Amino acid sequence: MGKRDYYEVLGVSKNASAEEIKKAYRKQALKWHPDKNPGDKDAEEKFKEAAEAYNVLSDTDKKSRYDQYGHAGLGNSGGGFSGAGMNIEDIFSHFGDIFSDFGFGGFGGSSRGRSRQVNRGTNLRIKVKLTLEEIVKGAEKKIKVNKYISCDACNGTGAAGGSAFSTCTTCNGRGQVTRVANTFLGQMQTTQVCPACGGEGKIIEKKCPICFGEGIRQGEEVIKINIPAGVQEGMQLSLSGRGNAARRGGINGDLIVVIEEKPHEELVRDGNDLLYNLFISFTQATLGSAVEVPTVDGKVKLKIDPGTQAGKILRLRGKGIPDLNGYGKGDLLVKVNVWIPKTLTREEKRIVEDLGKSDNFAPNPSSAEKNLFRRMKEMLD
Ligand SMILES: [Zn+2]
Ligand SMILES: [Zn+2]
Repeated sequence: MGKRDYYEVLGVSKNASAEEIKKAYRKQALKWHPDKNPGDKDAEEKFKEAAEAYNVLSDTDKKSRYDQYGHAGLGNSGGGFSGAGMNIEDIFSHFGDIFSDFGFGGFGGSSRGRSRQVNRGTNLRIKVKLTLEEIVKGAEKKIKVNKYISCDACNGTGAAGGSAFSTCTTCNGRGQVTRVANTFLGQMQTTQVCPACGGEGKIIEKKCPICFGEGIRQGEEVIKINIPAGVQEGMQLSLSGRGNAARRGGINGDLIVVIEEKPHEELVRDGNDLLYNLFISFTQATLGSAVEVPTVDGKVKLKIDPGTQAGKILRLRGKGIPDLNGYGKGDLLVKVNVWIPKTLTREEKRIVEDLGKSDNFAPNPSSAEKNLFRRMKEMLD
């Protein structure tokens, strides 16, 4: 068999640039790629022929020898590929950079090298909204999820009655076929997805009428999700195998649960601490008082000392959110705000004016009170 001209193989002219040669080879290799032409002997030969041509024409030295003397200028080594034991895998590793962006999923394509093709269901994502109370205590949620479920009419096999299938005789259930061929490059061994069963190792003789041979159907499942205390907005919990069922008895996808926080009406979260803005009256701050503040366990009483300044922060230990990793609990920080009246009657105004004349009403902060900003920052950091 006479060897075809390398330029002809790649479909380029003799004065094509290196870039044009590379492009032409990629085009040929893609066209005749074994993964695109499973079991096609002719395509396989063309694939190798293109690789051989590119091996020569992409090498300045070999190319100039070929240009001057033709195939004879290269000796009998098949253009530089070692003759014996040459197989498709060698071609992949030789021109890896060219194949890597073909979109076949790396060297050798999507299904090469696996003994049997295993279908995998896709992952599902759902969002779960939690109240602050649920975040503090942890929650058990039952959620109805629409998803692909295994077809019960055929036990997920896709075959009618769950039994109308047989082992593929082409690959004996292996899902792939290995072939050895003698070519001008030496003995070549290729392994590819079994063309008869598509890699599944079995042949469906009669498709299940419920799922049309897919082994899955649209359905719903009520899934119980245990959410630990202390989770945060945006956190994801992954429930292995609870996503979409896979075609014909493969591996289920996962269910990804994304946490969302419902804002609380009065309490604001800051890490594992909670913040509360307390407003008391001028008289409560002056005379002292007992007030109620909300917590996630209901209201608690809080004592306000006489002479409490606005801006003071009171800490209720352990009234915050439990740490997700079990490192204790956060606190509830209560910031005291003193309400200054915005409107006064004439009588009230007169009384306040009188009070204002007293020395006790002139500001006289202690040094600790002067440093309130620093203390606030330390507490909130
Ligand atoms: Zn097969
Ligand atoms: Zn079915």
